[in-house]
Amino acid sequence: LVAPEATAAEGDGGRDEGLRPRRLADYIGQSELKQVLGIAVEATRLRNDALDHVLLYGPPGLGKTTMALVLAEELGVSCRIASAPALERPRDIVGLLMNLQPRELLFIDEIHRLNRVAEELLYPAMEDFRLDLTVGAGPAARTRSLELPPFTLVGATTKAGSLSSPLRDRFGLIQRLEFYSCSDLEAIVSRSAQLLQLELAAEAAAEIARRCRGTPRIANRLLRRVRDFASVRGIAAVGAPVVVEALAMHRVDGRGLDPSDRRLLSLLETSYGGGPAGLDTLAAALGEDPDTLEAVVEPFLLQLGFLQRTPRGRVLTDAGRAHLEAA
Ligand code: ADP
Repeated sequence: LVAPEATAAEGDGGRDEGLRPRRLADYIGQSELKQVLGIAVEATRLRNDALDHVLLYGPPGLGKTTMALVLAEELGVSCRIASAPALERPRDIVGLLMNLQPRELLFIDEIHRLNRVAEELLYPAMEDFRLDLTVGAGPAARTRSLELPPFTLVGATTKAGSLSSPLRDRFGLIQRLEFYSCSDLEAIVSRSAQLLQLELAAEAAAEIARRCRGTPRIANRLLRRVRDFASVRGIAAVGAPVVVEALAMHRVDGRGLDPSDRRLLSLLETSYGGGPAGLDTLAAALGEDPDTLEAVVEPFLLQLGFLQRTPRGRVLTDAGRAHLEAA
């Protein structure tokens, strides 16, 4: 439950662990996030206090878990990692809270999926470092309060809008993670290549950066596929053409769209005349879960300006249509 490897859903069996930056200075991009959290960490250190609770939101793979671990490292405390769907029974969350050491971080991934009971246990824990437990049942039931050490909850979610407002209001710092620019992704790919001891030309890093949906996790995954390709072919120094050839098999196009992105855009065009079409209708036609479509697939297409969300549904933009036609 609390083992970091249990939640390292990296799509590469958690092997990304070694690629995670450990310090704020190594965390590439997200300048606003780093600035805000850097100040909060510094102030916390001066006061010798626990960091205020932090909510990080944004699409998967942008560095929320990494940031939680970086914060712990900067504060010199440990970070316990859990995921909301695994905290099904009240005793799961009680156990986590009761085992916290002073000033430690508790990272809860997918926090919008916490159940009501767990959420209500968190309110006094976050606000007053108090755990209210009900002992016994029926008319004999009594509430017992336990004092907790001051701690920091770091919540991560892909869907900030699904968080209940009482929970959201208890976070002192609420920060959104953005898709990364090509130059930041290039820096991430070059850094990872170095850690993987792969000789990668700058233009090759740029090719990967263009094809990773603005997402470091995907950048690292593609880099591993390039490394596989290069080692099988016996290529020691990887240049741009090798990257292009290696990634052609993975069906990511020049703007980083993968097959599910393209499927959504072409469905909108061919079956709905470019839209508007409702999220649930599109999800049913694609055989996808509407939540995944909204939180994982759509954000990047919105960012590229290929898709628009309107009150009447999703609409394909001219840029989106042009991209489909060019493909
Ligand atoms: P999330 O929790 O948002 O789904 P992660 O924190 O697990 O994303 O990040 C996925 C991977 O991407 C990490 O293992 C790390 O190697 C890499 N990564 C994320 N953010 C950065 C960053 N700012 N700089 C360098 N690498 C990063």
